[in-house]
Amino acid sequence: MAGKIYLVATPIGNLEDITLRAIKVLKEVDIVVAEDTRQTLKLLNHLEISKPMISFHRHSKDEKIGQIIDMAKSGKNIALVSDAGTPVISDPGEEIVKYAIEEGIEVVPIPGPCALIAALISSGIDAKEFTFLGFLPLNSKTRKEKLKEIKNSSKTSIIYEAPHKLIQTLTDLKEYTENRKIVLAREITKIHEEFIIGTANELMQKIKEPKGEFVIVIDKAENQNENIFENMTLQEHYEYYEQKRI
Ligand code: SAM
Repeated sequence: MAGKIYLVATPIGNLEDITLRAIKVLKEVDIVVAEDTRQTLKLLNHLEISKPMISFHRHSKDEKIGQIIDMAKSGKNIALVSDAGTPVISDPGEEIVKYAIEEGIEVVPIPGPCALIAALISSGIDAKEFTFLGFLPLNSKTRKEKLKEIKNSSKTSIIYEAPHKLIQTLTDLKEYTENRKIVLAREITKIHEEFIIGTANELMQKIKEPKGEFVIVIDKAENQNENIFENMTLQEHYEYYEQKRI
């Protein structure tokens, strides 16, 4: 009988944020597939669990996916974990999941910490509808498209950002979101956890040297249908309707 692939969410800072079910699964599986085995070893040692581990990261070759699927086919139960939070969310694993489903291997979610959800629920910004954009692209054309999407969005937008790129991203957001409210959720669940509120411009004044991990939660555009067309170029107007077309 084939084994299963468990997608196990792990803490994003505080090691106590692991579910009882995640611990049970990590104890029972045959192999742990980890983004960085050294990182996961710290967690397993903390939980007093000893397991064979193999690494799987964003540069892993397709044949590694094949090996993992073959192990599941031969009856091994596998836990897939990333360095922090929920695997697949801005982390490796999506290809394993797709391939496993194609090959008839059962994929089982073990939900838990996820930085975007922790940031959103603590931000005080509308959580009813939101768009998660992951990390903004570095390519200037696709980056502009994403920023325009945020500018015109009638939903809360959430992005991830590395500390050394935060000031550039706030500079871009200043242009595209003007006076909209933004919450920087910093070091969630860690000692220096904080939620910093302001416009992009105000946040740039408050944070000169960003340190730690950040999630950026951006309020939706106000009076979406009344105002936005006034400030749009013809091209932006066209792109707005293109984006709406599914
Ligand atoms: N899979 C993870 C999840 O479920 O949230 C996300 C992994 S992604 C590679 C890493 C990014 O998540 C960081 O650059 C940061 O934007 C965000 N992040 C992760 N942990 C965080 C924390 N404790 N506080 C704030 N942001 C965090």
